[in-house]
Amino acid sequence: MLALRQLGLALFFLGFGVWIFTLSLGQFRLTDDLITSVVKPEHQAIIRERTAFMSGRLYTSNLAFVNDFRSAIQAYNEDVRSRQQWDKVIYDNYTFNVTQQAAQGMFTTGSAWLWFWLSIGVASLGGVLYGLAGLKQLPGIKNDYLYRHPATDRGWIGIGVGAFLIGFYIVLYFYPEYLVNWVLLVDPVSRFVTGGPASQWFLYGTLYTIVILVMGVRMLVNYRHSRYQQLRTVSVMFFQLSFAFLIPNVLQLLNYPYQDLKNIWPLDYNFFFDYEIREKIQAGTFGIFMLVWGIVLALVGVPVLTYFLGKRWYCSWVCGCGGLAETLGDPYRHLSDKRLVAWKVERVVVHSVLVFAVVMTLLVFYTYFTGQSTLLGFLDSYSVRGAYGFYIGSIFAGVVGTGFYPLMGNRVWCRFGCPLAAYIGIVQRFKSRFRITTNGGQCISCGNCSAYCEMGIDVRWYAQRGQDVVRASCVGCGICSAVCPRGVLNLETGPVVSRNI
Ligand code: SF4
Ligand code: SF4
Repeated sequence: MLALRQLGLALFFLGFGVWIFTLSLGQFRLTDDLITSVVKPEHQAIIRERTAFMSGRLYTSNLAFVNDFRSAIQAYNEDVRSRQQWDKVIYDNYTFNVTQQAAQGMFTTGSAWLWFWLSIGVASLGGVLYGLAGLKQLPGIKNDYLYRHPATDRGWIGIGVGAFLIGFYIVLYFYPEYLVNWVLLVDPVSRFVTGGPASQWFLYGTLYTIVILVMGVRMLVNYRHSRYQQLRTVSVMFFQLSFAFLIPNVLQLLNYPYQDLKNIWPLDYNFFFDYEIREKIQAGTFGIFMLVWGIVLALVGVPVLTYFLGKRWYCSWVCGCGGLAETLGDPYRHLSDKRLVAWKVERVVVHSVLVFAVVMTLLVFYTYFTGQSTLLGFLDSYSVRGAYGFYIGSIFAGVVGTGFYPLMGNRVWCRFGCPLAAYIGIVQRFKSRFRITTNGGQCISCGNCSAYCEMGIDVRWYAQRGQDVVRASCVGCGICSAVCPRGVLNLETGPVVSRNI
């Protein structure tokens, strides 16, 4: 089994290396036809003039092509700005589409599938083999060098992984043109699933799903002694593959709006944006169904299901962010801050994000029904939604939420930033039958439960006193119960009791 683990690791690094290498492949050529097809008519002449030096030239590097194109547009914008000709500034960002269309060579001549399998395919196979190698070990958590290993104790490997993830998110969100080769790599998958070309978001969705499935195998192997963990892991794998990945893309293929039917407002913060509502209304009966489904789920489904099942029905069984945290993030769950001060910060920050989301949505409604964008003379609906999208949707949920797994644990976003978790947490605090019961007499104070609680809850504190764990932040992952050597902790439902935050 050690050999299988090493083989898995070797294949993973081989595939990962090929994946990184593909960024240096391909050729790019800017043509007249391309500018005509991608650029708005009013900008075509000026872009032709400014990029004339690129015309016909064959670039062998994505970096050189992107840099030349960006610099040409930037130089033009600086010129017109210096002459204060504000109406001539080009605000549209054409770089990604132009670079994608300009690609030639290996990715566009049918070999993208081959590179896809050589890179993502081989890395995934390696990940699965690595996970399966765990079958030879005892199930559960072993504590073996967890707090001394550089990968799991904020050491150089962990910092390296975090830096890679943070860098990936920044480039994906703000400079996707540099990832065009990776987008082209999943283009055949996109054409198979959606019937259209891949975008940066299709790339992201594909990688996200593959990571959850591969690391899900590891979870299934590691926690094979726990039926709860088996069901929960299969559930997040199923919901990611079907609801988050396949169904929205197939909907698009059928000319319906793209919608993840399990993504709930306020996590799905643009659900009520005017263009989203218009798009759904225009899509006819099914579009209206999506609209009603989303509203009913947020206003009725969340409180009712949380009353009966607690926060876990969503955060640990259905949600994509939770799915990634429970699979890719599992090796880092012990890094969650358990201090009281972290609990205090968590409550202030997560509820502030919820208030931010509610205010933003009220402003969206205000603009939708009145046609005015400004309220009270200073609250600009478009600026507020722009700020929310940038700071919460991109930076907090993506860059920090995932990039900080190896530094702050696997639930940074769920714990400190997710407005839906805050909303469900309020319901769980005041009206839910869910609790973790403790058989205090059996507790040997080993601390496993507290160490592995991804939400930073000091479970042992409750166990030692024989008190039920009734915290709003508990996502009901059940790991505390799975790692307890004495069977002290049980996830149960019962009559509603008063609870701490
Ligand atoms: S208390 Fe237990 S079930 Fe709740 S989040 Fe922590 S580890 Fe998961
Ligand atoms: S409840 Fe279980 S895991 Fe937690 S300290 Fe007690 S014996 Fe250890």
